Amino acid sequence: MSAAFEKIAILGLGLIGSSLCHGIKEKKLALKIVGHAKSAETRRVAHEIGLVSEVFEDPADAVKGADLVILCAPVGVCGALAAAIGPHLKQGAILTDVGSVKGAIVRDCGPHVPPGVHFIPGHPIAGTEQSGPRSGFAALFHNRWCILTPVAGSDGAAVQKLTQFWEALGSNVDVMNSDHHDLVLAITSHLPHLIAYNTVATAADLETVTNSEVIKYSASGFRDFTRIAASDPTMWRDVFLNNKEAVLEMLGRFTEELAVLQRAVRWGDGETLFNLFTRAREVRRGIIAAGQDTAAPDFGRKQS
Ligand code: NAP
Repeated sequence: MSAAFEKIAILGLGLIGSSLCHGIKEKKLALKIVGHAKSAETRRVAHEIGLVSEVFEDPADAVKGADLVILCAPVGVCGALAAAIGPHLKQGAILTDVGSVKGAIVRDCGPHVPPGVHFIPGHPIAGTEQSGPRSGFAALFHNRWCILTPVAGSDGAAVQKLTQFWEALGSNVDVMNSDHHDLVLAITSHLPHLIAYNTVATAADLETVTNSEVIKYSASGFRDFTRIAASDPTMWRDVFLNNKEAVLEMLGRFTEELAVLQRAVRWGDGETLFNLFTRAREVRRGIIAAGQDTAAPDFGRKQS
C-alpha cells in the first residue's frame, strides 16, 4: 500500500509531536516527515535521534509542499504559527492540530487558513506527564480516542482522510463540535489537573507537615496527584487561559458537590458519603470496562 501522505510537517516536537513522528514512521503513513521547533536545542535533538528527515527554524519552510500539517505546540502559540505558515500552505493540504482546547484553536487559527486548505482541528486524548522530543513513543495513541472538530464547510473527504490517519495510528475517532469538546474535556481532563495542582500546592504550603513527610507518606492518593501535577506548566497554563468558560462552569459544579461532601463530613452523614463514593466507583469500573485503564492494583505499577 502506498503512503497516505507524501510529506507531513510536524510543528512542535514535544511529547505529542515526537510520538506522531514515531507512529507515522512505524505505520509508513508518509514518504517524508519534516519538523519545526522553537528552540535550537529541540531542533538539535530531533536531528540527533532522527525524528524527522529535516528540521526547520522557520515554520514556513517546514510546511512548503506538505499535504498534512499538524500543529503540536501549546494552544496559546498556535494562532501565531498559523499566521506564519498560512501563506505557504499547499493547495489541498490538510491543516490540523492536537491542542487540548478546540474553540480557541478555531478562533485563533481559522482566520489564517487560506481558501483551498482543509482546516480540521483535532485532539488525541492521549498523553503522559513527560514532555520534550525524547519523550514520544508510537504506542501513545493505541486504543485511545482522537476527537476531530471540523469547522463549518470542512470537506467530508478530508475529514475522512484524517480519520483514517488517526485510525492507522491505533486511535478511535469521534467527531463533535469544538464547544462540546471543550465542555467534555473541562470535566474529564482540565478540572482534574487544576485539582491536582491545587492539592500538591496545598500540601507544599502546610506549615505543620514537613516536606519530607509529604514525600515519605505519598504512597497513597497524593502520589497520583503529584504525577498529574508534573505535567508541562506552559501547556496547562494555555489550557486554562483558553478554556475559561467551560472550566469555570465545571469548577462551579465541583464546588457545589464539594460543599455537599463537606456538610456530610461535618454532620457525620455516612449515608451521603457512602452513596457518593459508590457512584464514583461505578464510573471507575466503567472506564476499565471500556478498556481506557487497567484494573491492576495501583494502576499496574510494579511493586518493589
Ligand atoms: P511539549 O512536550 O511541552 O512540547 C511542546 C512543543 O511545542 C515543544 O517542542 C516546543 O518547542 C514547541 N513550541 C513551544 N512554543 C512554540 C512556538 N512558539 N513555536 C513552535 N513550537 C513551539 O508539549 P506536548 O505535551 O507535546 O503538547 C503539545 C500540544 O499537545 C499542546 O497543545 C497540548 O495541549 C496538546 N496535548 C497534550 C497532551 C499531553 O498529555 N501532554 C495530550 C493531548 C494533547 P521547544 O522544545 O523548542 O520549546
